[in-house]
Amino acid sequence: MFFNFLKNKKEAFNANGNEKSKNKKVEYNKRQIILTKQSADGIITYSKTWHPHEGILILQGKSKKNGEIRIDGLVVPPFASSGPYYSGFPTNELPMDLSYIGTAHSHPGRSNRPSLQDLNNFFGLVSIIISYPYEYDTIAAYDRNGNNISLIIE
Ligand SMILES: [Zn+2]
Repeated sequence: MFFNFLKNKKEAFNANGNEKSKNKKVEYNKRQIILTKQSADGIITYSKTWHPHEGILILQGKSKKNGEIRIDGLVVPPFASSGPYYSGFPTNELPMDLSYIGTAHSHPGRSNRPSLQDLNNFFGLVSIIISYPYEYDTIAAYDRNGNNISLIIE
């Protein structure tokens, strides 16, 4: 433990030499979702259209090695079924597309926490949930274990 601490401290003060390994470690621990404003607005509009039912969309984007996931596209899933307490689609009907990295769906209620069913039907790397009244502030992102991932809209 002492040696690890000493090593990290040295790296922190060494601006050039160990910069690369230092950044890698920091970023790995800091997973982050970047949602383009256009995508966020699309999710909001779609959710309002479906209200008081749930709406669901497929997220398109790229996952970087440093833990950052950038979402810049939305796809309306084929054969989507939706209701006040459930939204889903058969994932085996989806064409194989590596740009599909997760889903976004709306909760007509006030909670944007994932339900047990949401976690059981997890698709891809990230699940974005937006709750009523469907604003930037009510958008949240989760991994497949239901852990919150920090989200930036830009
Ligand atoms: Zn849900």
